[in-house]
Amino acid sequence: MYHAPYDSQFSLVCMDESNKQLVGEVHAPLPLAPGSSQIIDHENVRDGVADIFLEVEPLHGRCHAEITEQRTRKDWTMFVKGVLDECYPQAKKVRLVMDNLNTHSAASHYEAFEPEEVRRLARRLEIHYTPKHGSWLNVAEIELSALSGQCLNRRIPAIELMRKEVVSWATGSEQPKCHHRLALHNRGCPHQTETPLSEITSDTRYKVTDSQSFWSRSSVQTVFLDRDGVLNEKMPEGSFVSDWVHFHILPGVVEAIGRLNRAGLRVIVVSNQRGIALGLYSTSDVEIIHRNFQAVLRAQGAHVDGFYYCPHEKHQCNCRKPLSGLFERAVIEFPEITARNSVMIGDSLSDIEFGQRLGMLTVFVDGDPTRQKPGIEAAQKLANLHFRSLFEAVDHLTV
Ligand SMILES: [Mg+2]
Ligand SMILES: [Zn+2]
Repeated sequence: MYHAPYDSQFSLVCMDESNKQLVGEVHAPLPLAPGSSQIIDHENVRDGVADIFLEVEPLHGRCHAEITEQRTRKDWTMFVKGVLDECYPQAKKVRLVMDNLNTHSAASHYEAFEPEEVRRLARRLEIHYTPKHGSWLNVAEIELSALSGQCLNRRIPAIELMRKEVVSWATGSEQPKCHHRLALHNRGCPHQTETPLSEITSDTRYKVTDSQSFWSRSSVQTVFLDRDGVLNEKMPEGSFVSDWVHFHILPGVVEAIGRLNRAGLRVIVVSNQRGIALGLYSTSDVEIIHRNFQAVLRAQGAHVDGFYYCPHEKHQCNCRKPLSGLFERAVIEFPEITARNSVMIGDSLSDIEFGQRLGMLTVFVDGDPTRQKPGIEAAQKLANLHFRSLFEAVDHLTV
């Protein structure tokens, strides 16, 4: 369903719900001191739970959330009525993707409305339940995890404050929030122009046509990822990511890795780090970057299963991509890995050659066009699939 082109008459909307305990401070937190985080007293006041209803339109990137005191059938119905009448009044039908909870059914409308109104709402609603154990297929769940990581990761004492914070997060009046939405916005922000969506889905530059059965056809179990240019911003040619300060995670990467994790795929990072041989940074600098990146991922429910890198100069070893040494090191640690059940995702020719020589499926992602190495055209041709970013690749391949 996510592959259907955008249609404002039949809006595809995902909804999910969550809750958060309202917690206030007994003692005011101590101010920040340099080098340490805010000191918060363990003593706190619990003041009930607030429920969060969230809906997102994946193809449009718009998102809307409401905070309620409960999550009864009536609360769900009122939220859905708002979605139909206030968010999508122009749509003939709203296709609503959500989990199969007992409150999530058209029968709940009877708790709040007269039969005539119930029939009107039911006519405008087409419900699609996510399969059991497949709730991650619901894009709203990803939004909720971004919301909790970016907006609700602190004590919020009162429901009014929470309402204010969440609404401002969802309407996007402030800074970019969920990388997932950021990536959608990058394809053409729908808040600035009303018509880029058809262009998005019909972009023929990208070989996405045969991607739908990509994972299943190849029974993919392991995803190998290049690092610089795929996970984090590449430095200009001749410069290297020498420390954590220069490791800028690209939009959508955390969500993409989380999705791969939830799809049960092993995620392995393989990276050429010739800067070590050049004396620009040390192996421990690289280890620190990987440890910090892993911590960022873990904080948002994602993780990388293994990091492998080549510290050598060109032509000095068997582990600098496109040679296969990093793959072999991964297999020592994970003997279940086979190339036939693996995909390599990278932004340079050496990545695609690495995957192809081993017999993996290969996915090319565009890095920053101003920072690409020679051989890009060859890499694009050689790769089985081509996307603009890791997020887009995972977005197309895992749904
Ligand atoms: Mg790269
Ligand atoms: Zn090496």
